[in-house]
Amino acid sequence: MAAVEPDKPKRWTLASLPYQRGIATALARALQTGRLAHAYLFAGPRGVGKEAVAYALAAAALCPEQPGEGCGVCNTCRRLFADVHPDVRRYEATGAHFDLDLVREILAEAGRPPSEGRRKLLLVVEPEKMTYRSDAPANAFLKTLEEPPGNATFLLVSHDPRQLLPTVVSRCVAVHFPRLTTAEVTEALVRDFGREAAEAAELAAWAEGTLTEASAAGAAAEAARYESALAVMEAVVRGGVVEALEAAQATRQREEALALVAACAEVAHEVAALQAGTPEALRLPAWEGRCRELAASGGLPSAEELWAGCGKAALALRANCNVALTLEELFLSWVS
Ligand SMILES: [Zn+2]
Repeated sequence: MAAVEPDKPKRWTLASLPYQRGIATALARALQTGRLAHAYLFAGPRGVGKEAVAYALAAAALCPEQPGEGCGVCNTCRRLFADVHPDVRRYEATGAHFDLDLVREILAEAGRPPSEGRRKLLLVVEPEKMTYRSDAPANAFLKTLEEPPGNATFLLVSHDPRQLLPTVVSRCVAVHFPRLTTAEVTEALVRDFGREAAEAAELAAWAEGTLTEASAAGAAAEAARYESALAVMEAVVRGGVVEALEAAQATRQREEALALVAACAEVAHEVAALQAGTPEALRLPAWEGRCRELAASGGLPSAEELWAGCGKAALALRANCNVALTLEELFLSWVS
């Protein structure tokens, strides 16, 4: 799947954000009436658009084309979405702990005047980690929150605000991000993660209103499909016909069978690349070891035959043929 960080789609403006509309509208109004606070705490579960809103707010604050709104496409907007604008900085702990050095870096940055615009926006992601080892980083940070430099706005993004020092929380305007609706998650999966509508709806149903859960479930489902495809092909190579047929019978749903066949075709591609001595063409690095063993075994038909078989099976599945029988026929055709 596409390597998209679920909480960081940085291309929305306050006007175009597809979720958290109430928050976007309130922030736009605060900015346009000159009442933007010096520090905001964006609090809520992972994957509900907190960073998307933070970047949209930064665009609205700095965009010269559409001041107060952000155009999303000008040089300023594009640079800040790409994290290369000098007045929009994002800070995140590299490990489990937000250490004092990083806090000092933030404070030094806050003390410098903006390079280009009238304001700078400093995103601090997971400030709750400033208290994990000692309170020193949080206390140092607090000092600046108490006397914020005139033209810096802090945007604290917290997935677990209960861990923050109360004194930090009380210096910020708290914005509580609710979970997304199932419809919003479904739409985002289709629009931003390239999922099919039916699959997106299924993932969204148990994602509990967050894109993180939904996209992780998608990645897990994808890994499970490659796992199944490899298991079947390894069984074929070992002469384990019964095992392969059991896998066919265990696959009940048509969509699931189509995904399994597609995963088999992908594995066939990997095996062919390895047999041709072109490992640079590999698409599934996580499975390279097992694909290498399959390639070395010589126990599978040629990639062309595998692809032809998978293509025929996919057509049959789309034409409403029996799911288990179609898979059985495919897997049996691989047994020499
Ligand atoms: Zn712009």
